[in-house]
Amino acid sequence: MTTDRKIVIVGGGLVGPVCALYMSKRGYNVTLYECRSDPRECGYTRGRSINLAVSNRARKALRELGLEEDILKVSVPMRGRYLHQPNGKHVPIFYDPKNKECIYSVSRNYLNRRLLDAMGEYNNLQIKFDHKLVDAKIESGQLKFLQTKTNVTIDVRADLIIGADGAYSTMRRYMMQKPMFDYNQTYINHGYVELTITPEYGHLLAPNYLHIWPRSDFMMIALPNSDHSWTVTLFMPFKQFEQLDHRDQLMSFFNKLFPDIVPLIGEEQLVEHFFKIKPSALMYVKCSKFHTDAKSLLLGDAAHAMLPFYGQGMNAGFEDCAIFNSVLEYCNDNISMALEAYTERRRNDAHAICELALYNYVEMRDLVIRPSFRIRKFVDNILFNLFPEYWIPLYNSITFTEMGYKNCISNRSWQDKFILCAFVIISTVVALVAAIYRQPTTSCIHKNSTMEFMGIKFAPLKIPLERRLQTLGAGGWFITLVSGVAISLL
Ligand code: FAD
Repeated sequence: MTTDRKIVIVGGGLVGPVCALYMSKRGYNVTLYECRSDPRECGYTRGRSINLAVSNRARKALRELGLEEDILKVSVPMRGRYLHQPNGKHVPIFYDPKNKECIYSVSRNYLNRRLLDAMGEYNNLQIKFDHKLVDAKIESGQLKFLQTKTNVTIDVRADLIIGADGAYSTMRRYMMQKPMFDYNQTYINHGYVELTITPEYGHLLAPNYLHIWPRSDFMMIALPNSDHSWTVTLFMPFKQFEQLDHRDQLMSFFNKLFPDIVPLIGEEQLVEHFFKIKPSALMYVKCSKFHTDAKSLLLGDAAHAMLPFYGQGMNAGFEDCAIFNSVLEYCNDNISMALEAYTERRRNDAHAICELALYNYVEMRDLVIRPSFRIRKFVDNILFNLFPEYWIPLYNSITFTEMGYKNCISNRSWQDKFILCAFVIISTVVALVAAIYRQPTTSCIHKNSTMEFMGIKFAPLKIPLERRLQTLGAGGWFITLVSGVAISLL
């Protein structure tokens, strides 16, 4: 039934090829159009991040396509965050101390090429490079592509058009012209530049971690590459980038805030690379739906570009493809029904991960250095160890499970309430005990009812009710204080 239906996919980045593989496996007749040249021939490096963190959601899709092992083989496991604190101290924080779950740093170029190679194994799948989408009549499934090498345009017709053409999607532009399609795009006033630590010095950084230099308003991170080099990314407000317009300013900034990284990158290389590239912008996109006209669908960044701070953009994009595939299965390949069902299933999760990615920037650059973060992590780890089925910390639920992103937020929200209630109950009990028992003075001891705690003797008070009420009042203050601390921890 699927073989006589034609699917056109626009965009051959990361999500387009994964979707193409799923659809070809289902038996559809698939053609993927990409505006750039074949990276396996021209060897370009993309203008986006050099490496990416692959976690559970992307792994699941790759596994279903038989590619997981190949990809993980050339990636570098990262078992936790390695904090380079402003005071010069280093602290490793494991993602999952018990199960030793980790995320994997993989080269974007390798991943892209491997996916394109895998596409070559299907007879019902074609790739057209150097074809740029320039016009679309979605209701009739008509598309116009410009062949960028010859400057000739061609017309194409499809039963289903899938836009996987990234954050600045052309497909989305045409879909937005349809009624009831709301769209929201937000830039943040921070940008990023990427720098490199060569393999020669790469071994000086603790391996198998995602390194973070949190500096409250901004941060730097480093992800490992399989050749022992590291990709270092500085995220910072544009205003601050603008102030670093001279070698001396740049060096004094790095020497003051990231002194340990300067010898690893090398002063000359740092200056050369920093001034060669302009900081890139960061934005996120939310759409009210992902389909129109029973003919078109958006996946990946085209549907929900997000800030990179949860390392979930590609993961979510691959998960889109896996979910769309399962929805098609459920709907017996009735495309129009599947499109409706897909939007319904995915919309809230897509919005949720956009919000979470925004939150995680604050966590990575600021919260991780606060004692409250460590205490919360400590409590989370204890409860996760005791009740692994019920108490899954937020980061773990996003990164190591398939729980819907929206449910990850609700999960965290009941955990917050639980911890708050536990704090209030414990502090109430402590306050009441403090009101009834006090350190004995010789005048107010009941000889037979003293109790000892950590070497200190306590006894019921032999004092007037009035003074007990005063003590209860103090207990009330204590409860308020502890609750305040608890609330600020959450
Ligand atoms: P893209 O990768 O952008 O691919 C879109 C493709 O469409 C491109 O090849 C483009 O050439 C093509 N195209 C565009 N317009 C047209 C047209 N008109 N006609 C034909 N073709 C067209 N995600 C993670 O999961 N983990 C990470 O660690 C991570 N780190 C990141 C770090 C940074 C700094 C950034 C910016 C992003 C990061 N991401 C990460 C997000 C990830 O890069 C994206 O989510 C992912 O690339 C989305 O894939 P995509 O295929 O939807 O879009």
